[in-house]
Amino acid sequence: MTTIASIKKKTVANTIQDERHWIKAFVTNCSYDDIRKFLGCNGCNRKTDTKKNEFFTCQWCHKKDSISMPRLALSFDAQDDTGSMSLTTFINTIAQLFGKTISELYAPKT
Ligand SMILES: [Zn+2]
Repeated sequence: MTTIASIKKKTVANTIQDERHWIKAFVTNCSYDDIRKFLGCNGCNRKTDTKKNEFFTCQWCHKKDSISMPRLALSFDAQDDTGSMSLTTFINTIAQLFGKTISELYAPKT
């Protein structure tokens, strides 16, 4: 377990790609209406202009057989005793946060 302040001290020079950190924080500015739907890489979730279900080489994770798929993302603020920062989370965590199934999340909002 680490703190937001110690994550903010990290730079390109002292960070390993795909490093994971665990923080205990309050989530603020997090609304179901802010969930963004877009087409993205099935490997890293990043946005692509490639048409749905087509193969492409991802410019972010460099996966050569990435598939363009519907993705969901949600940005929110996290705050602990040491500070706050903006974070982005994806489909499985969004489902947990709002107690929804993945198909409920992909359904058009009513
Ligand atoms: Zn990717």
